[in-house]
Amino acid sequence: MAELKVLISRERIAQRVAEMGAEITRDFSGETVILVGVLKGAAIFLGDLARHIQLDATFDFIGVSSYGNRPSPAQQLKSGWDSTGEVRLTKDVDQSMKQRNVILVEDILDTGLTLTYLKKILLAHQPKALRIATLLDKPSRRTQPMQADYVGFGIPDEFVVGYGLDYAEMYRNLPDICVVPRE
Ligand code: 5GP
Repeated sequence: MAELKVLISRERIAQRVAEMGAEITRDFSGETVILVGVLKGAAIFLGDLARHIQLDATFDFIGVSSYGNRPSPAQQLKSGWDSTGEVRLTKDVDQSMKQRNVILVEDILDTGLTLTYLKKILLAHQPKALRIATLLDKPSRRTQPMQADYVGFGIPDEFVVGYGLDYAEMYRNLPDICVVPRE
């Protein structure tokens, strides 16, 4: 594989995640929140974000994967993520979200398919409030009308890894967000 190029440094990530935590703290002042991380990509972001939220907060996790024609890692690089595949739940939340303030924490908002699906599932729990926090947003790739309430960085249509994001399960532990070059 060609060399990875840093797109967003660890310092910029740390600064922006702190700002996002402060925003959430302000918006939910005096209340409690449940942070629901989307496995596995959002795990690192959730861990850092949570430490900048000065509220009583609990964690939960939800898991998804794409049905059927999920592209191989090489195809993902060439033509992007699967925008036509259906999303499937692999792990549900462990607790009731009824009348709770829920913040769905995602690594990247791309076509919008995953968050459209997850939003529907979580709204069925009748939360008091449901907000979406995503570290990255690729608005040019959207096929569903989906917007996050808290966005770390808007990025161009590149395939990125690091800070929780993988390429065939690798690179999640890179501290910076890097572009995998499309050769
Ligand atoms: P969506 O359903 O919005 O198209 O895609 C969301 C999911 O696609 C993310 O949770 C992530 O797993 C994956 N994804 C989209 N773009 C990228 C990318 O650039 N890099 C990586 N590693 N995953 C991506």
